[in-house]
Amino acid sequence: MGIHIVQGDITRALADAIVNAANPTMLGGGGVDGAIHRAAGPELLAACKQVPLTERGRCPFGEARITAAGKLNARYVIHTAGPIYSQSEAPALVLASSYRNSMRLALENGCKSIAFPAISCGVYGYPLNEAAEIAVSVCLEDEFKSLEKTFYLFGEDIVQVWRQVLSQHR
Ligand code: ADP
Repeated sequence: MGIHIVQGDITRALADAIVNAANPTMLGGGGVDGAIHRAAGPELLAACKQVPLTERGRCPFGEARITAAGKLNARYVIHTAGPIYSQSEAPALVLASSYRNSMRLALENGCKSIAFPAISCGVYGYPLNEAAEIAVSVCLEDEFKSLEKTFYLFGEDIVQVWRQVLSQHR
């Protein structure tokens, strides 16, 4: 299945699973995380409080957790903590894991389509070109070929970057 790029708000996505660029607390935050929680309603935070975390109450960077989607037009929200670019020792590996683990959860839960934001590309500071390269390469891995993947990106600049990287892989 293909990879698509849409300029716009991921909370409007029609997909089996919407991926949230969350933080390790899984309790909501700013940016796309805040937008997803606002659109989904309080049910989403309640669901996040039920997911299994480490004994210190964290979802480790690069891992993902799945919940119901509240009022969103999706069956699931998949929350992943992408790397904080300046603080991660291996940001590329962690970012690839975020995409990979998100898609694995989607497949395990019978999803046929998934919507992604640009994980780590906001306050977490990931350089856009490198992030796009990782996002697209992982999406093209054989394991995920049955999933329809759509990136919802905020702003023309980031859409350009993603389109260029995608065209280089075609
Ligand atoms: P992170 O902490 O992983 O960097 P952010 O939420 O700060 O996450 O930003 C990730 C990306 O999501 C940024 O490119 C930001 O512009 C974008 N973004 C913010 N709100 C939305 C939204 N409603 N839909 C899609 N993308 C969004």
